[in-house]
Amino acid sequence: MTWVDSHCHLHLAGADPAESLDRAAEAGVEWVVCPGTDADGTESAARLAGQHPGRVFYAAGLHPHDASRWPEERDRIAELAVDAVAIGEIGLDFYRNLSPREEQIAAFTDQLALAADLGKPMIVHCRDAFTDVHDIIEAAGGGPEVILHCWTGGPKWTRRFRDLGVTFSFAGPITFEGGDTVRRAAAEAPSDRTMVETDTPFLTPPPNRRAENQPANVAKVGEALAGVWGLPVDEVAALTTATATRLFRRV
Ligand SMILES: [Zn+2]
Repeated sequence: MTWVDSHCHLHLAGADPAESLDRAAEAGVEWVVCPGTDADGTESAARLAGQHPGRVFYAAGLHPHDASRWPEERDRIAELAVDAVAIGEIGLDFYRNLSPREEQIAAFTDQLALAADLGKPMIVHCRDAFTDVHDIIEAAGGGPEVILHCWTGGPKWTRRFRDLGVTFSFAGPITFEGGDTVRRAAAEAPSDRTMVETDTPFLTPPPNRRAENQPANVAKVGEALAGVWGLPVDEVAALTTATATRLFRRV
């Protein structure tokens, strides 16, 4: 049984990346995608990818929290994007609003355009911004290359986004005791357009929710998804790995 962790910030974790990757390999995790959250973070992720070829791939992007810095960050991110497997993580976060909304929207739409220019998938963070993300993605044409990472929208939003043809990626919240909304959402997600992730170092699945998360835990996310779909775990591993392999062009 093999897994792909479609989203983990190994460079933000306290653990030694080489050790995390070894533990991940023991748990059947073949490779991971490490998204940047700004140019410096993307450089760190790219360095990790260089040190662990075939096991770590990186994505280049500016997170919505830091969207105000887009004018200074844009050139370096565009340069780092050339060898990245995706653009991300990008998106909108109207929960914390650490950058003004208008600036978040500008950075998001510019980076979607960058992804389209380069023909790369885009890893999208969406928190309390469902309407805006939906409308921006719809205007950009939607499609499977749009990955909604750590998806926590309810069933209604899942259906609306599903109709845009996007790909969903589920993380730790699907395993949480209070994760019923996410599980009901996962029931609406298409089995050929869904991936699993850890969002390391955040959102650790039980029983040690306070521990730092690591890619090995992606199997727990996959097991929870298998429970929702009523499928054997190995089938979910195969389905989600196939989707990641196709999207990130690892074939
Ligand atoms: Zn993330």
